Amino acid sequence: MNQELENILRNKDINPTAMRLLVLEYFLKQNTAISLSDLESDFDYSDRTTLFRTLKTFEKKGLLHSINEGNITVYALCTDDCSEEHHADSHIHFCCKNCKKIFCMHSVKTPYVNIPSGFIAEKLDIIVHGLCVECSKIT
Ligand SMILES: [Zn+2]
Ligand SMILES: [Zn+2]
Ligand SMILES: [Zn+2]
Repeated sequence: MNQELENILRNKDINPTAMRLLVLEYFLKQNTAISLSDLESDFDYSDRTTLFRTLKTFEKKGLLHSINEGNITVYALCTDDCSEEHHADSHIHFCCKNCKKIFCMHSVKTPYVNIPSGFIAEKLDIIVHGLCVECSKIT
C-alpha cells in the first residue's frame, strides 16, 4: 500500500514525506471534498501550518484541486491528467445544503462557455446546490 502511495506522489513529482503519504492516504478514503479544518480535526498530532502547506503543494503539483464555496475552500483529488500548474479537471461540483458536503461530479463536464475576446478565462467553477443522495433519502 505504501509503495502505491509513494508512486502516486512520485508520478506528480512530489517528494514522498511521511506527512504527505498520510494526507494522500486520507484523501483516498474520502468520497467528498475536504476543508483544512476537516483535515486538522483528523490529524490531531500535527499543526495547521504543515497541513496547509501540504495541501498547497498537492494543489500546485496537480494532485488536488480546490473548490471555493462561500468563504470555505475545500480540496479533492484530481484526475490523472492534472500536472504541475495545469489542472485538467473539467467537472462540476455539488454542494449539499443539508450536510454541507461538496462532491466532485466527475461524470458531469462543465459546458463550454464563449468568453468575449480580450478576456482570458482561467477557470470555470460550477457548483450545483441541493440535496445529496444520503440527505435526499431522509428529507
Ligand atoms: Zn486538477
Ligand atoms: Zn447531504
Ligand atoms: Zn472536483
